[in-house]
Amino acid sequence: MFSIKKADVLPNGARVIDYHISYSYDVTVLCEHTGIQPFVTWKLDESGNAFWGHYFSNASDARTDYFKRSGLHPAPHYCKKCEAPQYIKRNYCGMCGTKQ
Ligand SMILES: [Zn+2]
Repeated sequence: MFSIKKADVLPNGARVIDYHISYSYDVTVLCEHTGIQPFVTWKLDESGNAFWGHYFSNASDARTDYFKRSGLHPAPHYCKKCEAPQYIKRNYCGMCGTKQ
């Protein structure tokens, strides 16, 4: 098994924003690379090679997809101001109080 951590650069040049390894070693990564749709989620094979990409132009959609694909539920909403994850649905940020 390869090792992975945040801010690693994959063999394909993409930078790891976040990753999740399931109990069955199903690896999902959220990455940033160059291009019109710079945010991408991939699965990694046992050698750490990325496949089955979902590409996005904005980070928020990519993060939602990342949570969905990695099986992490529920996908939190992130505060517009402080970017704290919001696990409870409400119209203000639980961390900084900013209206969402
Ligand atoms: Zn906030």
